[in-house]
Amino acid sequence: MALIVHKYGGTSMGSAERIKNVAKRVAKWVRAGHQLVVVPSAMSGETNRLLGLAKEISPDAHSDSHLRELDMIASTGEQVSVGLLSIALQAEGVEAVSYAGWQVPIKTNSAFTKARIESIDDVRVRADLAAGKVVVITGFQGVDPNGNITTLGRGGSDTSAVAVAAALKADECLIYTDVDGVYTTDPRVVPEARRLKAISFEEMLEMASLGSKVLQIRSVEFAGKYRVPTRVLSSFTPWDINIDEEAKSGTLISFEEDEKMEQAVVSGIAFNRDEAKITVVGVPDKPGIAYQILGAVADANIDVDVIIQNVSHDGKTDFSFTVHRNDYAKTVDLLKAKVLPALGAADVVGDQKICKVSIVGIGMRSHAGIASKMFGTLSAEGINIQMITTSEIKTSVVIDEKYMELAVRELHKAFDLDQPKA
Ligand code: ASP
Ligand code: MG
Repeated sequence: MALIVHKYGGTSMGSAERIKNVAKRVAKWVRAGHQLVVVPSAMSGETNRLLGLAKEISPDAHSDSHLRELDMIASTGEQVSVGLLSIALQAEGVEAVSYAGWQVPIKTNSAFTKARIESIDDVRVRADLAAGKVVVITGFQGVDPNGNITTLGRGGSDTSAVAVAAALKADECLIYTDVDGVYTTDPRVVPEARRLKAISFEEMLEMASLGSKVLQIRSVEFAGKYRVPTRVLSSFTPWDINIDEEAKSGTLISFEEDEKMEQAVVSGIAFNRDEAKITVVGVPDKPGIAYQILGAVADANIDVDVIIQNVSHDGKTDFSFTVHRNDYAKTVDLLKAKVLPALGAADVVGDQKICKVSIVGIGMRSHAGIASKMFGTLSAEGINIQMITTSEIKTSVVIDEKYMELAVRELHKAFDLDQPKA
């Protein structure tokens, strides 16, 4: 007997019929002798609908002064889901009880709309499990130290599920979703992309932060911190497929770099076009410049990603960095208003038509020449690299957005990702 956490996304919860199917699948696991905690998302489209209603009431509903109320509103989607799923389970003859985040409680900080989980009390859940019940807990939400309902950011149910699994020291956390696992890259861009049977936690963390949208990044951080064995698998298989087959399907996020793992140097290619590049031109090359530029940006709560500074000519240099595209206009305005005059810099120029393409693999630690192979592949296609950033297990380049798909396809080929590994 194992203690298992299942997470079901909005698509799986999308209609009464689908919720009944989820209940049948959960019941199958219960009948196989396991203890089950289930963390569902809101029905698909529901969170958007709820947030849209707030906007109808007031165009500035999404401003900082209404964040508490937005969480009050958005959290209801998951509350409906847990109630419906509990009834569906009972109809399957399985005892079940539903809880909202505050009832567990799942305690978070007070950062409304992007709260972080601080602790989860397992007493109530354990008592129910001991009494033979399936416990159904809302994803996405928690409660802050003042008793306010909070939400964890879009996609936050993944994080709820992994955090619950961590708190209960569950044997495995199964994330049922509308893709059947983690792929070497997005199959919509490269049809030859392959599903990975396993991926190391560190690679998954890079993939999630570099643009792979399979899991909310915080859920991966949680899985890593508490070493929660986490599996991403399809919710589209028939509910009555063989349970042993189901238990081995999808992609396991693993913590062992053992021989069983696919020993590829590069495991995956991530990309995103959510960023924009900004260059401050003609900056005096003297101490404190990076701080003056990026300090002002950080004070405005804007996250900076890739940064480069060139060598100086005649005491002047250029300083480039990327920000999220949504923050582009704000950042340029801020630099023009506050930083240019103080620095005596010449100008601020920007480019929103960029993308970031990254190769990821723990094998890069022990293999030289991987980055240069990447650069060679791009150069063979005549793709100009504008910025480069590396870590132990990834190399990212910023290139013109119009070459994104070409770059991803060619890199996928160059690193043999379309070939099954022995
Ligand atoms: N319902 C929330 C959202 O749409 C949380 C989730 O689905 O993970 O973002
Ligand atoms: Mg999701």
